Amino acid sequence: MNAIRVLERLVPEGALLFDAAVHDPARARTRSGSLGSNAIRDRIDAFVVWANTEASRHDLPGQRIPPDPHGRIGTARFRRTLAWHIARRPGGLVALALQYGHVRTALDTDESGRYGTRSRSGIHRLVDIETAMATADAAADLAERFHQGEGVSGPAARKALLRATTGPLFQGGLVKRDFPLKHELARRHLAREGSVLFDNPHALLLCLYQRDRALCRDDEQLAAPVLDRCVPGCGNIVRTDQQAAALHQRADQLDHRAGLLPAPIGDRLRANAVKLRAWAQDHDLTRFTAEENPT
Ligand code: SF4
Repeated sequence: MNAIRVLERLVPEGALLFDAAVHDPARARTRSGSLGSNAIRDRIDAFVVWANTEASRHDLPGQRIPPDPHGRIGTARFRRTLAWHIARRPGGLVALALQYGHVRTALDTDESGRYGTRSRSGIHRLVDIETAMATADAAADLAERFHQGEGVSGPAARKALLRATTGPLFQGGLVKRDFPLKHELARRHLAREGSVLFDNPHALLLCLYQRDRALCRDDEQLAAPVLDRCVPGCGNIVRTDQQAAALHQRADQLDHRAGLLPAPIGDRLRANAVKLRAWAQDHDLTRFTAEENPT
């Protein structure tokens, strides 16, 4: 979102955000419209060099972007990476919801892969596909953890386990090149209300979204949960041992930070830590395992 704002200030009013005349003035006479694929690839290369230089400068070898076995990163893979992050980070969904029109306009491409088109064939369909894949991963992960002995809790836990082990799978990951078919499968998968499991790393829970039970939806008829507005006590919640342990960990971090801050802020952090521990305790008291309750 910040990047879009900067781009808006770089180009004249009404121009494309990646206007070739602004971003590639040496070629401004020979081309009009947006930057071409090669120019975008050069910029992605430059970004990788910058990121790796920063990683070395801060002694963070784990943050380096390794050489890519598939070659240079082009626009298609860059957009898919972006969609992957948007689909898996609740904050990303919010940013997208707020900025959807503009970001989509900026990131959609036309048939030739050039940016700036207003067609509806771009990143929003990629986000649908990545979201469907993320929900399928969440369901597979839940089933695996449960069968390996992990405990689960929450009002939607039994139903989620049933769906994760016996429900229809998302087949879109198997479709390699047929993008419209892949998108159609994703759309149908996400429309199966009460069967789609969203990971919510922000609230440390899983959400088996069912519209009529959702406490995050206000009066709107939302087709998907508002993960960053998750409300404790919602009937769609599922929680695993791993997530409960992460709640304890987050509470400890809050307490630690609270000790370093002035009283009013510290008190607020400590109150949050108490809340997180209460949710974790609730999980510990109500959890069940495969051994106790085989599904
Ligand atoms: S409030 Fe309920 S529906 Fe909304 S994100 Fe949280 S668990 Fe899901």
